[in-house]
Formats: sequence, C-alpha cells, structure tokens
Amino acid sequence: MATKLLLLFAIYRLIVVVGLTLDPNKLLRLGVEGQLSVHPSDLKTASSDFGGVKRAEPVAVLHPALPEDVVHLVKAAYESAHGFTVSARGHGHSTNGQAQTTKGVVIQMSRSRVSRIDSINPTWPMVLEKLMYVDVWGGELWIDVLRSTLKYGLAPKSWTDYLYLSVGGTLSNGGISGQAFNHGPQISNVHELDVVTGKGELLSCSEEQNSELFHAVLGGLGQFGIITRARITLELAPQRVRWIRVLYSNFSAFTDDQEYLISLHGQPAAEKFDYVEGFVIVDEGLVNNWRSSFFSPQNPVKISSLKAGGGLLYSLEITKNYDESNADTIDQEIEILLKKLNFIPASVFTADLPYVDFLDRVHKAELKLRSKGLWEVPHPWVNLFVPKSRIADFNEGVFKGILGNKSSGPILIYPMNKNKWDERSSVVTPDEEVFYLVALLRSALDNGEETQTLEYLSNQNRQIRRFCDETGINVKQYLPHYNTRQEWMDHFGDKWAQFYQRKMEFDPRRILATGQQIFKPSF
Ligand code: FAD
Repeated sequence: MATKLLLLFAIYRLIVVVGLTLDPNKLLRLGVEGQLSVHPSDLKTASSDFGGVKRAEPVAVLHPALPEDVVHLVKAAYESAHGFTVSARGHGHSTNGQAQTTKGVVIQMSRSRVSRIDSINPTWPMVLEKLMYVDVWGGELWIDVLRSTLKYGLAPKSWTDYLYLSVGGTLSNGGISGQAFNHGPQISNVHELDVVTGKGELLSCSEEQNSELFHAVLGGLGQFGIITRARITLELAPQRVRWIRVLYSNFSAFTDDQEYLISLHGQPAAEKFDYVEGFVIVDEGLVNNWRSSFFSPQNPVKISSLKAGGGLLYSLEITKNYDESNADTIDQEIEILLKKLNFIPASVFTADLPYVDFLDRVHKAELKLRSKGLWEVPHPWVNLFVPKSRIADFNEGVFKGILGNKSSGPILIYPMNKNKWDERSSVVTPDEEVFYLVALLRSALDNGEETQTLEYLSNQNRQIRRFCDETGINVKQYLPHYNTRQEWMDHFGDKWAQFYQRKMEFDPRRILATGQQIFKPSF
C-alpha cells in the first residue's frame, strides 16, 4: 500500500513538475517491477556527484528491477506528448553533473535489484581467448565484476585506476588505466551490448549487429542509449603483481622511457610490462599524493633531497603480473626491462601484492581520505589527452609554469597508443599515434589557504585551457565538459557530423543524458 502511494506521488510529481501531459494511467501501466521513487534521499543522491560542484534535482528516481523497466520508462518519455528527460546514473562519479537532469527521471543503475553477473562463459579451463567473456548489467561496478570473474580464475583485461565506477559509466567515456597501451581502453574490450535507445527500443549490438549503435554508444557520453548489458572480454587472471616505481628529474628521459615501454605492446608478455603509468611528484601530504602511497620508508633515496634543486620530479609506475608457477623468472624479466631505462639510479621502489589488491589500490586511499573528511569535497578535475609532440611544452607551461610546482592533488601522466582505440567509437583523441593522458585530480579545500579554494583551482583550470589554445597544443578533453554547442563541435571536430547524425537517429527527441549539455531536449 505504502509503495503504491509513493508511486502515485512520483507520478503526480512528473505530471505537475514536468507539466507532463502523459496519461497517469499510462504511467501506472508502465508496470515497472522496480521502484519509481521521490524519496528525498533518492532525489538528493541523484542531484549530486563526485565533482561536488553541480546540482540538479530530478523529478523522480527509478530503481530498475529488470532491463524492461528501463525500456518502459524511456518509451514513456519518448512517446509522451510533452516529453521528459531520462538520465542513467552509474555510480555518480562524474565531476560536472553529467548524470543529472532536472526535467525528468534519473535511473539509478548501480547497485540496483537487477544487478547480476551472468554467463561467465564456461570455457575455463579451455583457453580460447575469443570465448572468454562475462555478461554484466550496465550498472554493475567494476569491483563486483572483478570479484565474480576471479571465482573462475578470470578477469577483464583493461581497467580504470579505481573500481567503484559502473560499467555503463566508464564505457560511455572510454575507461583507461596503465593497461590501455597494451589492451586499449575498456571500450576496445567489449564484444556486445544491449542498449535501450532514446526511442525506448532494446537492441543488442556488436561489430556485426546494429554496428552503428554499438560504435556510437562506446564513448558516447550516454547520448545514444542506456547500456543494460555489456559482454566484456576476459583473460586468465594473474595471481600476483610486482609494482615498481622509479624516479626521474629529467622530463624527456621520463617520457622517452614511457614511450619506449608502450612501444613494446606487440612483444611477447615476458618482454614488456603489463601496466605503464606515471605521475608528477608534487609537495608531499595526503591530499596531494593520495594515489601514491607506497614510497616505502626503507627507501634509500629521500625524495626531498632529489628535489633540492627546485625542479620537478616524475615517477614512472610500472607493473609486471605473474603467477606462482613463473615466480622464478619474474626478477630476471624485470631486470632486463629496467636496464633499458634511464631513471635516477637507486630510486627503485618495489612492492609485491595479490592482483586484486593492486587493482583495488585506489579504494584504500579513498578510505583514508574519507576517514579524514577529505573525500566528499569539491573536485574540479581536468583530464586531457595531450599529443606526444607537445607534451614537453605542456610540462614547461603547465607543470612548471601555471601550477608552479604546487598542486592540490595527484597529477597523472602516461602515454597510450592510438592504434588501440577504435576510430568508429564516439571518443575523440588527438591526431597523433601516441598521446598522453594528463589528469589533474585536485581537491578543493576550505582550510583558509587561498591556493586550495575551488575558485583558485577553477581559475587555474581556465588558465591551462587558455595556455593550450594560445600555444596551439591540440588537447582533447577526456571526460569532457563544455557549456556551448560551439565548444562541443570544436571538441568533436571531424566527428561532429557523425555524432549529430547518430543522435538524431537513436535519440531524436534528445531526452537522454542531458546533463552532458551537448543537446537540448526537443520539448
Ligand atoms: P556516472 O557519473 O554515473 O555517469 C557518467 C555518464 O555516463 C553520464 O552521462 C551518465 O548518464 C552516463 N551513463 C551512466 N551509466 C550509463 C549506462 N548504463 N548507459 C549509458 N550511459 C550511462 N576514468 C577512467 O577512465 N580511468 C580512471 O582511472 C578513472 N579513475 C577515477 C577515479 C575516481 C575516484 C573518479 C571519481 C573517477 C574516475 N574516472 C576514471 C572517471 C570515471 O570513469 C567517469 O567519471 C565515469 O563516468 C564514472 O562512472 P559512473 O558509473 O560513476 O558514471
């Protein structure tokens, strides 16, 4: 009875707040198995995200119990005379309101009743790479995908650094980490999707079937449909990881080594690392270095002594996966690879840990920050793809210039191979064979220090964008955020016409993911 009343209230809000002319009986007849909620706590959650900068309150929140619930809701939005918007929300880890909406309903995809991981193809222990996959609900968190597949000794190949993100959320962007040079981003490791388009049709798509929709949705910023199922490629899960960090004071030695290491992607597994990342070392302290907790106390080199000259330091971060069965050769393989690199001698930091602990490393840092009240603060993050040919200029102008050797959060920097990205997807990357991710993952604090305020950091972000424009560094934003149509057109460049055409085909009323601010709804 109480549930029915709440549902009626949700529908009432849709009618009154959105001015919906949809027949209430029709909405009731939606017959969603899940819950259409207007509970203040649901509305509050759906109004916020990790960025902590933007807020937009939806009219209601749907907690789906079946993929068909998504179909029914999107169909109702598409067919209603007046229309309302629908935004899938994965785990709400966007930083600019991308999963929010005002004139409509947010579908809370993660941790929903429909959440399940099926069809781990039971080919194990038969090692047929093409047949190793898992089918997951679009709202599934990667940490749960990992835990489930590990039961079969399997794991996805391509990751993000942090696993409390939803499959649909990262596939709508790209999904990158230190494995991307080798396996490509997560969107290059998907066999098949089920997608509810903006017309409310539930379609399966892949390279072979509805391929236009498949490529559109991958990296498509939620514009073309809601991913309800993804078939993800798996590999045999390694048991352990040797995790290594080395230091550089010379930027070009650092990037030359990173580029050399990613050029080995086609080599046999024994002759390359499995993960290549890096970061700029900024002043120490939890908030600055929360992702880099393991410069061990036994370390023979004091970072502060290396920084005595006032220059910047850079850390290359690499890993090698291994199993107990080949533990005796791992040291030798690593030694051969390290010999080719030009890092500061005696600056090698090594940790050895189970594979799952390495993949879930950022969660540990999250718990530490949470305990100090430093997690739920505004995050004016900037993620840029910088072409290889201009990364040295970026170092001079941004790391040494605008940031002035000061930061308010970790700065990641690592290269990727463009040939691991499928040009047919919706993502845009720089027009060079190798490009870098530069991620300024900063936290704004209200601690009386002017250089840590949201205003100060946002202003620096603008300065960085202006610097790139003025010096002609053709960066592309990753997890992009723009306010005007012209900026979006510039972002997509040659791909804009196709992006627009796909939108008109798959979401002609422009009701999906309006929080991205690319298209306005047609009503
Ligand atoms: P949400 O923020 O909920 O949604 C993002 C967008 O996707 C919205 O437009 C939404 O409408 C749409 N969407 C969500 N679910 C679906 C679906 N099922 N179907 C269609 N559209 C959908 N990214 C990386 O690539 N690598 C990293 O290492 C990385 N690390 C991160 C660490 C932290 C701590 C945080 C906060 C973010 C990180 N990210 C990283 C960024 C992250 O991948 C994106 O913010 C991603 O969108 C978050 O997923 P989410 O499930 O929270 O998505």
